[in-house]
Formats: sequence, structure tokens, C-alpha cells
Amino acid sequence: MIDYQDVLNTIYQEIIQETEKGDIATYIPELANVDKSTFGIHLQLVSGQAFSVGDAEKKFSIQSISKVLSLALALSRVGIDLWDRLDVEPSGNPFNHLSLLELEKGIPRNPFINSGAIVIADMLVSLLEHPKEDFLDFVRDLTGDDTIDYNNKVADSEMQTGFNNFAAANLLKSFDNLNNDVADVLDFYFHQCSLEMTCAQLTKAFYVFANQGHCLKEKTRLTKSQAKRINAIMLTCGFYDEAGEFAFEVGLPGKSGVGGGIVALLPNEFVISVWAPGLNEKGNSKLGMQALEKFTTKTNQSIF
Ligand code: GLU
Repeated sequence: MIDYQDVLNTIYQEIIQETEKGDIATYIPELANVDKSTFGIHLQLVSGQAFSVGDAEKKFSIQSISKVLSLALALSRVGIDLWDRLDVEPSGNPFNHLSLLELEKGIPRNPFINSGAIVIADMLVSLLEHPKEDFLDFVRDLTGDDTIDYNNKVADSEMQTGFNNFAAANLLKSFDNLNNDVADVLDFYFHQCSLEMTCAQLTKAFYVFANQGHCLKEKTRLTKSQAKRINAIMLTCGFYDEAGEFAFEVGLPGKSGVGGGIVALLPNEFVISVWAPGLNEKGNSKLGMQALEKFTTKTNQSIF
């Protein structure tokens, strides 16, 4: 029997002594004000027990982690036809690269690079009656927590400065892979990225992927096959051009965001999330990755 609390406490003590904490993402001006020494972990077992250490109850900007949740909602509504408009291959490129998109005629490599997430956002804008409200309801329902919300300042900040995402959306439009207005789709996309959650809330939201499509309230939100496929995409594409390194070091499906959060899971066993806002050169949480490597090594639990 693993003493999870003891493992988390040990990791916490080791990580807070690290002096190289990485760099805060400043390209979204509103994210620049976060304290680099913040660090928290939350672990939710599929069997029900939960464990925390550090700043696990502080809210942060989940950014690209939201792409897994938007994919889940779109896939549950659209089904496999969704894959007519995007692929499931790792990009091996930074999350915002445009050259591949042009080369591959407007079909994004996967739903977790920005262009792919923008195509998913376009689907949700078409499908949902009140896109922003309905997506928020979906996330609140998955998590069982009505306090989750967008941070409009962060969304506005990206609307002002997200020229690269405007370029991606326009490129998609030129290849006929965007049905709605660029501004409407990006308004939705920037809001989904601005969602603020704690580590504890994130593990609850991602429970559905560890529990074969059933959320914490045991309601079915995805089919078993959809949960399995989303986990596969997290493993191969969840960490920008560092997906190989994450699989090598940590060995779990997961997703990171430039707010410094990472959530990862072992199907049928647990969901774990960490928040350490300093990023490495690939845009993933530097200490978050180290903490998860320590977790799977100390507990000897990974998919491999
Ligand atoms: N909203 C961010 C962007 O589109 C998300 C990036 C990320 O977390 O990877 O640039």
C-alpha cells in the first residue's frame, strides 16, 4: 500500500529547494504577474481518496489544458466525423507553428496544437446554442463545481495580443476549415483558455478520462472508446514538441498549459495535477515535469 501523502510531501520538499524555476509566460500580458515560487500538487484516486500538498487550492489559468475538455465536448457531440477536419499525429513543432498547417493544406496535425484547438472551437461555436456558457456548464458539471469561471481579463489580453492565433484562424479559413467568423471562434477559444481552476478542480475535471468516460458523479460523459482515444492523444501530443520527453520521463498521458499547470493520469488508477508557473524552453512547467517524474518513479506507477 503506497503512502501517497508521504510521497507528495517528499516531492514538495525536494521541489521547493530547486533554484532554477523556469520562466513565466509573458506573451500573454495578464499571465506575467504570477508568483514563480507557487507550487501545488493534487492527487485524486479513481477509488475516491484524494491527497494534496502546497498550493493545490489556488486558482491559475489552465490555458491549453482546456483543449482536452473542448475536444471531449466536441467528440461526445460530433463522434468520429470530427476527424475529417483534423489529424491525430504529434506535430514535433511548437504549439503555435503555422508552417505545417500551410504545408498540410489546413488540416491541423492534432487537436492540442493551437490550429487544431481552433478547429474544435469552430465546431463548438456551430454546435452550441450559447457556446461560452454551455462550455462552462460542461466543465462545471464534469468537476461538480459551479465556482469555476473564465477570467475575462486574460481572455481580453489574448484578444489584444494573439496575432499568431488570428493568423492560424485565417489560414484555416483560407483552406475552408473554419465555418464561423474568425473573431467569434477566437473569442470562444481565448475564453476557454482563460478558465481558472485549482489543481484539485483539475483532477476532478479529468477524472472522466481516468474512469472510462464516467465523471465523478458516475454519469457517463464519454464512451469508453472516446476516453481511450483522448488519453492516447494526450500521450502523443499533450506536451507540444516535448511529448516524447514527457512519455520518457513521466510515462503518463497528460496535458500542459502555459499557465504552468500539468494534469496527467493513469487510466483506472488516478489523476494528478501540478502547478508551478515557471516554464522550460519548450513551454511546459519546468518543476511540474520534475515533480511528476518523481511521482511515477517513487510510486512505480506509469503506463509502461
Ligand atoms: N491561449 C494560449 C495560446 O493560444 C494557449 C497556449 C498554451 O497553453 O499552450 O497561445
